Amino acid sequence: SAQEAGQVLPPQPASLKIVNRQITGYVGFANLPKQWHRKSVRRGFNLNVLCVGRTGLGKTTLINSLFNENFSDTGVRSGETPDGNDQSLDEDTLGDKNSQVGGAVSMRNTVKIETQSKTIEENGVKLKLTLIDAAGFGDAIDNTDSWKPVLSEINSRFDHYLDQENRINRTKIEDNRVHVCLYFIEPTGHYLKPLDLEFCSQVHDKCNLIPVISKSDILSDEEIELFKSRISNQLREHGVTLFRPPVYKMDDNETIQTSKTLYEKMPYAVVGSNSFVKDPNNPELMVRGREYPWGIIEVENSNHSDFNLLRDLLIKQYLEELRERTAHELYENYRSKKLISLGIKQDNSVFKEFDPNTRQEEEKRLHEAKLAKLESEMKTVFQQKVTEKEKKLQKSETELFARHKEMKDKLTKQLKALEEKKHQLELSLANPSTSSPVPQKKKGFLR
Ligand code: GDP
Repeated sequence: SAQEAGQVLPPQPASLKIVNRQITGYVGFANLPKQWHRKSVRRGFNLNVLCVGRTGLGKTTLINSLFNENFSDTGVRSGETPDGNDQSLDEDTLGDKNSQVGGAVSMRNTVKIETQSKTIEENGVKLKLTLIDAAGFGDAIDNTDSWKPVLSEINSRFDHYLDQENRINRTKIEDNRVHVCLYFIEPTGHYLKPLDLEFCSQVHDKCNLIPVISKSDILSDEEIELFKSRISNQLREHGVTLFRPPVYKMDDNETIQTSKTLYEKMPYAVVGSNSFVKDPNNPELMVRGREYPWGIIEVENSNHSDFNLLRDLLIKQYLEELRERTAHELYENYRSKKLISLGIKQDNSVFKEFDPNTRQEEEKRLHEAKLAKLESEMKTVFQQKVTEKEKKLQKSETELFARHKEMKDKLTKQLKALEEKKHQLELSLANPSTSSPVPQKKKGFLR
């Protein structure tokens, strides 16, 4: 203390109490996770799930089973939607449903993106779940380009995010990016179809791809094992990357093992159901399941399907990792490619110190690059139109020439015939003995 150090303390008022505290070295930042927890719970979470697969493969039923919800078969069309204000994602708008599902099989693919959104709550934690459904995918006779509208939906959601980031006011950025894509494989037990492989190859570097074998209750355990290994081989041969639950240095053995198992068991053979049946072990309880004459399939029974694995990965263990990979790897990749394509280069010295002027300059440059691109596209279209018009004019000119020539030939022929006739007449006039019907005295007149 100061006294011990030989210092003279100023006289203390009698009412003042001096409390001696012991400094333990604990300053309080160990509490940061708690602060983070409180903040996250207040903010809530969101997850955007893209479901792709032929109509009737059980997509809606599986989502309902996963989240214990009641999504309907069709959502809000988002060809014209959810771009930013997110009105189309509100539950209020869900009444305005318009579906093509269930119609006759069409020749060409008519994929329509439909979205439904619900905020669900569990123990005070809110999750805004958005279901993006590629309705009509794989339903047509010719499905060659079925993947295109889905890919452009993923890209346009990235573009929308990029636009929000480039705004002057970036305080309220809405995350509509696709966090995970569940790809539904038909339970044929054979091999993946060309459309399955094409789709997976096109989107695997744009979203977290998780393949599932739907309605797996129609396959035996052996058939599922064989089908799974064939699918994994095919995906590997085509260079398709699936979502791999990450492992960190500080993870314990159990977590590492869980992550490994979850990855190795893909594609998950799942079963979904919208109804509840009596629990065979406890008839008082009702469980989500499917009842058959030969028995009951419980959705949440790990011996019956991989449903629990999918739910663990998607919700319980790796929801945040799905979101994080979307934001830090997939979106960043897309963003840098996009900016480079717009002619913007990153100058590291600029980013060393934040300077609002530089930021504004950057935004201006971005805007100008966009305008330049738009202008060049318009020019190209204009040039194309002019070329087309010129070609058309050339064609009609050629046709006109041809018609003109034809007419001319016809007239020349007629003229020739008349001249021939005239010649004959003259001959007969000159030589009346050859029984010409023309009288001799009119000869001069005729000439
Ligand atoms: P979606 O068009 O892909 O959304 O398919 P739905 O979820 O509407 O399901 C289509 C039909 O398949 C419904 O009659 C469901 O009851 C049935 N279904 C859904 N999941 C399963 C499943 O895991 N197994 C079986 N056997 N049928 C299922």
